[in-house]
Amino acid sequence: MASLTEENYLKLIYHLSGALREEVSTSALAEQTQTKAASVTDMLKKLAEKNLIHYKRYQGVRLTEEGEYMALKVIRRHRLWEVFMVEKLGFRWDEVHPIAEELEHIASDELINRLDAFLNFPVSDPHGDPIPTASGSMPEADYHKLCDTSLNDQVTVMGVSEHASSFLQFLSKAGLVPGSTVQVVEINAFDRSMQIRINGLEPSFISHEVARNILVSPES
Ligand SMILES: [Zn+2]
Repeated sequence: MASLTEENYLKLIYHLSGALREEVSTSALAEQTQTKAASVTDMLKKLAEKNLIHYKRYQGVRLTEEGEYMALKVIRRHRLWEVFMVEKLGFRWDEVHPIAEELEHIASDELINRLDAFLNFPVSDPHGDPIPTASGSMPEADYHKLCDTSLNDQVTVMGVSEHASSFLQFLSKAGLVPGSTVQVVEINAFDRSMQIRINGLEPSFISHEVARNILVSPES
C-alpha cells in the first residue's frame, strides 16, 4: 500500500519521465510539488525502500517495474473517474480533473474494474488521454499536434496536451473538442498562427500556442 502522497509522487515521476522513461531530477520534482528539495529527498528514500523507484543520491530517479505498475493504476483510476463524471454525471471536461485528483486514491480494484465495465471499457478519458489497462499497460496513441498539420489537411481532434480549465473552456467555446473536424486553411509564416475551419464552418483564427496543445489524427 502506498500513501496518497506516495501515489502522487509515482504519478508525477511517470509523467515527468516521458515516453522515453528518462531519469527525473530531484529539482524537477521539488519544482512540480513546490516543496523543498530536502522533503523530496525524504519521500524518494521512502519510495526506494519500498522498491518503487531506483534512486541514488545526486542522480535522477526512475520507476521500478512495480512503481510503474502502481503509477499506471492511479492514472487508470483518475481517467476512468473523469469519464464517469462527464458521461454519467453531466460534468464539463474542464471541471473534472480536480475531483479526479481525489477519487484516484480510492484503491479498490473491484470498484475500478466494475466502473470500467459500467462505462463499457473506454479507451480514453474526456481529454483524449489513453486509459491504462487493468493489467497495467498504457495504450499508445498515435496523435500529432495540430500545429504540425499541413495546409489544407483535414484532421480530427483527439485530445489535448494542456489541461488548464481556462484552456479547455476556450476550446469548448471555439467548438474545438474531441471529435471535431479541422481543416487548416492558412498558416502564417511569421508566428505560425493558423486559420482553421472547424466542422466545415467559417474559418477562425488560432494562435500557435493553442495549436501546439491540440492533438489530432488524420481523417480516416
Ligand atoms: Zn485529469
